[in-house]
Amino acid sequence: MRDDAPNSWESRADASSFYGFTDLPSVHQRGTVVLTHGKGPYIYDVHGRAYLDANSGLWNMVAGFDHPGLIEAAKAQYERFPGYHAFFGRMSDQTVMLSEKLVEASPFARGRVFYTNSGSEANDTMVKMLWFLGAAEGHPERRKIITRVNSYHGVTAVSASMTGKPYNSLFGLPLPGFIHVGCPHYWRFGQAGETEAAFTQRLARELEATIIKEGPDTIAGFFAEPVMGAGGVIPPSEGYFQAIQPVLKRYGIPLIADEVICGFGRTGNTWGCQTYGFMPDAIISSKNITAGFFPMGAVILGPELADRLQAASEAVEEFPHGFTASGHPVGCAIALKAIDVVMNEGLAENVRALTPKFEAGLAHLAENPNIGEWRGKGLMGALEAVKDKATKTPFPGDLSVSERIANRCTDHGLICRPLGQSIVLCPPFIMTEAQMDEMFEKLGAALKKVFAEVA
Ligand code: PLP
Repeated sequence: MRDDAPNSWESRADASSFYGFTDLPSVHQRGTVVLTHGKGPYIYDVHGRAYLDANSGLWNMVAGFDHPGLIEAAKAQYERFPGYHAFFGRMSDQTVMLSEKLVEASPFARGRVFYTNSGSEANDTMVKMLWFLGAAEGHPERRKIITRVNSYHGVTAVSASMTGKPYNSLFGLPLPGFIHVGCPHYWRFGQAGETEAAFTQRLARELEATIIKEGPDTIAGFFAEPVMGAGGVIPPSEGYFQAIQPVLKRYGIPLIADEVICGFGRTGNTWGCQTYGFMPDAIISSKNITAGFFPMGAVILGPELADRLQAASEAVEEFPHGFTASGHPVGCAIALKAIDVVMNEGLAENVRALTPKFEAGLAHLAENPNIGEWRGKGLMGALEAVKDKATKTPFPGDLSVSERIANRCTDHGLICRPLGQSIVLCPPFIMTEAQMDEMFEKLGAALKKVFAEVA
């Protein structure tokens, strides 16, 4: 609870720092949780309280908060070569090795990698690559980007324009040329009497109608998260990617998989596109690429886009884009280790082993009359709160039901995330069965308490 003394951590945080994506009334009332350290999947605040972080930080701390191998990899690389860029024909050996590893881990037979500091920048970079290609190949009009309503692609001006969330209007976004098509959430957007397969076909038809209306020659690319994460964990409707990919192919529009959350194991396979059986033209990666131990994003281009970008860059002598810390050697050394830890040291296996228990836990909590739906894939899941289960009527927004549930959980040492009317869980891949029991027990108690207050 809040400590209002002027020298308390809560007061100092309020006075000195801005919060991103934070419900300010909650913070004013409850105080900031100021953290000191972590151990396994637990984080500890300045008062010594422990919290089981069922959100892996922001989906990314999949190996927990103190993985010795990752810390060692960082230390060793800091001692060897603590920083460099990837401009002017120079890059670190770690950068080269990571690119090779990323391409090897990708579904592409061959490819090339471009590094950024974040997922937002990786999406921006991909958009700029597509614009650059359009201009270089004699199609400067090919600039429009299609994404989906409720998608999340980041916060920079371009990636926020791609993001299909209403709050972006507060910034006067999206920029012109960013188009949002339907969200593949059957439970919420399926019409009365419509089967899931028919819903999917309707979305594919809507996508094609949008492409034709906008002008196929004006579209540069289509971006999609395999499972929408910050939209509230929304797996695609049945057959979704199989239905939309032929539409995109018909008009020569690249399909970019934004795998910032799904990539490296979250859905049970290395990539979400493998889980859903589609082959993108490029992959956007970030978050668990370093298990959250270093800020990094990557654009992994498949063979066709890689070749075209090479040709377009040769034509003007360079690809004029990059960040000071692109391909940072310490980040790359950590990523090399993190990929190994996740893919070869049993973490990806643990995701697959824990998934049935995770799904059973979600399904059990969804028996609550105020949970309308549970959904998930691998170790990402959500429970959607409703006032009326039969009619799927949400609670009035001003009741802040999901925030109340999350706050209640925080009070009892569990971090989970309110997203719209949903509570989102994305446990770290190191979670044990006992920790998962703790997670569901605490969340179950919070649901009961809050629904009793508001229902
Ligand atoms: N794309 C997806 C699918 C994401 O979930 C996120 C962040 O949550 C981003 C992009 C943006 O990444 P970052 O916060 O590193 O800029």
